[in-house]
Amino acid sequence: MRRWPEGPICSGCFANAMEIYGICDGCGTDRLLPGIGPDGQRWCTDCGGGLGDYTCTRCGREGWREHAGICGWCVLRDQVDELLDDGTGRVRVELTPLAALIVSMKRPRSGIRWLTRPGPCGILRALARGEVPLTHEGVHSLPPLKSSIYIRDLMVTAGILPPVDKFMFLFEQWWPAWLDTITDPEHRATLRLFLTWHYLRVFRAKIAARGELGYGLPQLARARLRLTAAFLNDLASRGRTLAETTQADLDRLFAQSSPHQRNALRPFLRWAMNTRRMPQLDLPPQQERPVTLVTQRQRIQLIRRIHDGDGMELTDRVLALLVLLYAQPLARIQQLTVTDIATGDDGHLHIRLGDPPTPVPAPFDQVIRQHVTARRNQMTAANTTSPWLFPGRASGQPMHTTSLRLRLHNLGIPNLTNRSRAIREMLRQAPPIIIAGMLGYSATGAEKIAAEYGTHWQHYVGLDRQPRRPPRLTE
Ligand SMILES: [Zn+2]
Ligand SMILES: [Zn+2]
Repeated sequence: MRRWPEGPICSGCFANAMEIYGICDGCGTDRLLPGIGPDGQRWCTDCGGGLGDYTCTRCGREGWREHAGICGWCVLRDQVDELLDDGTGRVRVELTPLAALIVSMKRPRSGIRWLTRPGPCGILRALARGEVPLTHEGVHSLPPLKSSIYIRDLMVTAGILPPVDKFMFLFEQWWPAWLDTITDPEHRATLRLFLTWHYLRVFRAKIAARGELGYGLPQLARARLRLTAAFLNDLASRGRTLAETTQADLDRLFAQSSPHQRNALRPFLRWAMNTRRMPQLDLPPQQERPVTLVTQRQRIQLIRRIHDGDGMELTDRVLALLVLLYAQPLARIQQLTVTDIATGDDGHLHIRLGDPPTPVPAPFDQVIRQHVTARRNQMTAANTTSPWLFPGRASGQPMHTTSLRLRLHNLGIPNLTNRSRAIREMLRQAPPIIIAGMLGYSATGAEKIAAEYGTHWQHYVGLDRQPRRPPRLTE
C-alpha cells in the first residue's frame, strides 16, 4: 500500500506534502517526504512507490516544483533578482543580503505569493533603483505602510539597516502630523513641549533600560495625548487658558470623567503644575480598579482545557498556561525567549520568569516543550531564526501584545483578573519574597496582594518548602 492517502488529494494538500522534509520512515534518508503510509509514516518518493521525481532541473534540490521542473526556490530567486535589479542586470550590491534572506525561507511558496503583490514589488524596485536612500526613513517613505514596515524589518534582520526601535520610529512619524491637526497654536505649543519633555523622555528611558520601547507605551501615549488635547479644548470652551485653571475646573473635570480618563490626564496635569504652566491644584487620589476574581471552578476548568488540548492551538495553550498558572502580564509573556525555557539539573522543565527559574509541573511541561519545537510563524523569511517564544509575523519581532490579548479573549480567559487569582493561589503556598523572585514581581507588590488576601508570612521560616504545588486537575 505505497501510495497517497485514500482518495484523490487536493492541490493544497499536495503542495503542503511537497514542503515536508525529514528522515524517511522507509529508507532512513533525509530528504523530501511526499508519501504518507497507511499508518501515517512519512515516505520519500522511492519508498512511497515512485510518486514522481521532484528534483529541480536547475538547482538539483528536491522540492515543490513551481513550474516546468523548476523548484520554488529557483522561481523565488528569479523574482527577487528581477525586483532587486539595479538596472545593470544584477541585484543592487547593498541589497544582496536581503535577496539571500528572502530566498532562504523554508517555504518558498509563501514568498512567491508575497512577491506577486504590487505593494512589496513596488517598494523593492524603488529600493533597488535608488529612488529613496537606504535608510529607515527612506524605506518608510514608500507606500503601502504595512509592506514598507515588513521590508524595513527584513532589512534590519539582513544587516542592511541598523536596528532602531521600531515603535519609537513609528511614534516619531506620528506625532508631528498629529500636532498639525491641533488648530489652537497655544495648545499646539503646549502639547509639543509636553510630548517632548514627558513622553519622549519616558520612551528613551525605557529603551535605555529595557533595550526596546515596545508597542504598549506609545499606544497609551497617543490615546492620552488625544485626551489631553480634548481637555485643553474643554477649558477653552469655558473661556479659560491652562494658566487660569481653577480647583473648581479640575474638580468638575474629575467628577465628569471616567477613572480611565482621569488617569490619562494625570501625567499632563502634573507636568503642567511642575513647569508652572498651571496653578498648583489638588489632584484627587488615584483610584485602583476593583479586582474581580474568576472562581476557582472556572480556573480549574480552564486549566483542564489547556491540559486536554480541546482543539486549542499550542500557542494558545502555552499562553493561557502562563497567565493562569504563573500570573504573567502579557508584556512579559511577549518578551519570553526560547532560552528562558530550559531543563534544570533536577531534570524538570524550568521557565525563567524571575530568579530562580520556576519549575513547570507535569503535564504542562510537555505542552511547553511541544510549543518550543513547533513555534508558529517560523517558516517565513522574517522569522527563520526568531528567539521569541511567541514569534510575531514581523521580522525579528515577538507577537504583538494586542494579538496575545485577543487570543486570551477568544479563549474566554480574562487577563487581569486571573493574574490576581493565580498569584493569590500561589501566595498561599509560599512567602511573597520567593514567589516574587520566581515570577519576577517586586516583593512589595506580592506582599501587598498577600496582605489583601490575609496571608501573613512575617513569621514564615520553612523556606525549604516547595514553593509551588502542582495544579489540581480535579476539584
Ligand atoms: Zn525512503
Ligand atoms: Zn531549483
